[in-house]
Amino acid sequence: MSYLAESDPEVYDIIEMERSRQVNGLELIASENVVSRAVLEAVGSILTNKYAEGYPGKRYYGGCMYHDMVENLARDRLCELYGAEHANVQAVSGSQANQAVYFAYMKHNDLMMSQDLAQGGHLSHGSPVNITGKWYSVSHYGVDTETETLDYAAIAEQARKQKPKMIVCGASAYPRTIDFKAFKEIAEEVGAYCMADIAHIAGLIAGGEHPPTSVGVTDFTTTTTHKTLRGPPRGGAIMCNEEDAKAIDKSVFPPGMQGGPP
Ligand SMILES: *Cc1c(COP(=O)(O)O)cnc(C)c1O
Repeated sequence: MSYLAESDPEVYDIIEMERSRQVNGLELIASENVVSRAVLEAVGSILTNKYAEGYPGKRYYGGCMYHDMVENLARDRLCELYGAEHANVQAVSGSQANQAVYFAYMKHNDLMMSQDLAQGGHLSHGSPVNITGKWYSVSHYGVDTETETLDYAAIAEQARKQKPKMIVCGASAYPRTIDFKAFKEIAEEVGAYCMADIAHIAGLIAGGEHPPTSVGVTDFTTTTTHKTLRGPPRGGAIMCNEEDAKAIDKSVFPPGMQGGPP
């Protein structure tokens, strides 16, 4: 990093201190990972110089032929890895990926059902302090007080009473297998969409260590790139069937969530 050391020694010094912290410390934070040098090279590359609003073959900027190639590669690889029909890889983080799904299928004040933040859920699942909790109505489910696991019969009962527009499953702090099929069946019974957020377990699902997958089971699967997938920070992705592809893409951009992809 000789260029950085010369042009901005203060930032360089901070990065060096952080490098030493990472090398000498033992970090056990589940949402973090250590990327490979290959990932560092790719994210530190000249691809950063380009604006590529739009999608491959339909950009709002000229000169995107190589960005088209790299985005198509990312989409195809994700579809192949998870057996998805369609993938959107443009969300700037997992939270935006979730918001894009809600924004595509829910209106202001529509009801979502999701796991309580205090019982393993995520801020972007309708927490009252998050935009998702302010924009949508939310009914949280939690874990059973005795077993500390999800009680699918109780969740089904809650869904029948509340009639949500969307049921969100997936969590940040739930160390047990999640039954995506059970969630989808509950959603189907009450006429709700079903979204699985696999941010924390994406790598486990890809490696077949969390059977079964949510992809092709729930209507939408969202993930981050930077947790167990071991990809670059910060990124989000959405997988869905072909019939939902257009609405999902439109909800990310344009005009839903953001401008150009990271
Ligand atoms: C980490 C996480 C996200 C996304 O977080 P970002 O920091 O916005 O990328 C979404 N859902 C769950 C369950 C997570 O654990």
